[in-house]
Amino acid sequence: MEIIKISGNELAEYLHDESRLSGNAEYLVFAKSEADIQDAVEFCLRRDICLTIQGSRTGITGGSVPAGGLILNLERMNKILGIRRDEAGSYFLRCEPGLKLAELREILFSRQYDISDWTAAAKIIWQEFINSGKYIFPPDPTETSASLGGMASCNASGARSYKYGATRLWLSNLKTYNLSAIKQDKLVPKPDITLPSKGVKNAAGYYLSESSRDFDLYIGAEGTLAIITELEIKLLPKPAHCWGVIQFFAGETAAVAFCEELKQQSYTASALEYFDHNALNLLRKYRQMWDTLPEMASNWKNAVYYEYEGDETELIEEAVFKAGDLAEKAGSSESNCWFADAEAGIQQLKNFRHAVPEAINAELDVIRQKDDRISKISTDLAVPAGYLHKMLRLYRQAEQDGWQVIAFGHIGNDHLHTNILVSDYQKWLSAKKLVIEWAKAAIAAGGSVSGEHGIGKIKRDLLQLMYGEKGIACFRSIKQQFDPDWILNRGNIIEREPVPGD
Ligand SMILES: Cc1cc2nc3c(=O)[nH]c(=O)nc-3n(C[C@H](O)[C@H](O)[C@H](O)COP(=O)(O)OP(=O)(O)OC[C@H]3O[C@@H](n4cnc5c(N)ncnc54)[C@H](O)[C@@H]3O)c2cc1C
Repeated sequence: MEIIKISGNELAEYLHDESRLSGNAEYLVFAKSEADIQDAVEFCLRRDICLTIQGSRTGITGGSVPAGGLILNLERMNKILGIRRDEAGSYFLRCEPGLKLAELREILFSRQYDISDWTAAAKIIWQEFINSGKYIFPPDPTETSASLGGMASCNASGARSYKYGATRLWLSNLKTYNLSAIKQDKLVPKPDITLPSKGVKNAAGYYLSESSRDFDLYIGAEGTLAIITELEIKLLPKPAHCWGVIQFFAGETAAVAFCEELKQQSYTASALEYFDHNALNLLRKYRQMWDTLPEMASNWKNAVYYEYEGDETELIEEAVFKAGDLAEKAGSSESNCWFADAEAGIQQLKNFRHAVPEAINAELDVIRQKDDRISKISTDLAVPAGYLHKMLRLYRQAEQDGWQVIAFGHIGNDHLHTNILVSDYQKWLSAKKLVIEWAKAAIAAGGSVSGEHGIGKIKRDLLQLMYGEKGIACFRSIKQQFDPDWILNRGNIIEREPVPGD
């Protein structure tokens, strides 16, 4: 294992993630095996320095940003190690944590992979697998360069979680490198804190629901309890057809009413995503990101992306026609939409959706050239069904008060990402306070301060708001039992000692 000593600006890219938070570190290791991971941990223990785990660094909460010590980067552990089929005929792939979602998708699409070092039994199953049709791995955090280890550690979800749920549901086993012998079912005290209302997406803090799977606690633990060294993922036969539509509306009320109606339909959409007027205006500005799509009409203020998939075209057709009727009822029409029923077209629509956070990041980079203390202000608040209107009222009030507020994302799950773009550091500080007010409103409604991105290093104050002293003490005790020296991912989720203001 080569331990690289970091000096000067060299390797600076490994000091930040997509939150634009920047850290520092003395050493960097690109692990290629579990033995390298073990060596890296021992190196840190000997020197009493901390270790920060990195997947692809696409996280937006500073989770993989180092807090000194050593960076353990796993992007070179990206192999598929084997395949299994269960009695029900489902297929499972055993993967290394650094495998990127885009790489996995390419392998599933081409069904080509070098399996020369697999066992003879696995080679036979692989042959059956590639003869039995196409498969998908449903979780889709839209950023396809995300690694499987990072997705598991944040319990990532994204647009398609409306139908398929978060990454947790698609993990059938995990292998971890642990620093203590404690197991999930032996934890003391047993967690006793109030969780968000049922049905609310929640990636805030440790997974405290009842679980019979001994690896569930590691999912969403943001690398604070153990290092994920292998994942077994469950695959789903690829639905034969997928149709996608971006429907444009003249205002937020109409667009949101359309979504509410669509959610009542019996045929469940696989994605239901929202763009507010500021998101569309930003895309107009960054048109080069999606120049394969037609221009947007000036009266298109808000938009909704929805997608239906399945094996029977008639059912999808019926659902899309019904959605068309609902769009008309909400004041839109067939001429105010983009439609795709083939893979390339669907990808274009998805690129349009993905361009929103990309455009926000591009704006942020311009702002940061003036003051690099400014990091991303992006909420991840999820609320119970029926409470989104209340949150939207708060966002619009802030806009009237002069803030540049961009709301977009997973409206199907009552989970929008609301970004505030600011021009200077004083405004950034005030915007952080505004987010705290929004978070309080979401918590009061039974919601979560993080639906999918996690807490990382930049949202600990929100976690404290959500779970209070008792909850944070419970998390601290769990961390202490798994990582007695607080080596792993220091600063994520909770600090070792209570921090004033956290
Ligand atoms: C433009 C954009 C859009 C996005 N949209 C979404 C979205 O819709 N939904 C969503 O859920 N996310 C979204 N994300 C966030 C991000 O892609 C996900 O959080 C992703 O899961 C992070 O994966 P990663 O490999 O980049 O992890 P990293 O950023 O490298 O790490 C994330 C966390 O996981 C830990 N970690 C990584 N690997 C391991 C491991 N093997 N063992 C233990 N801990 C580990 C890290 O220490 C860190 O705490 C978006 C990001 C961007 C940039």
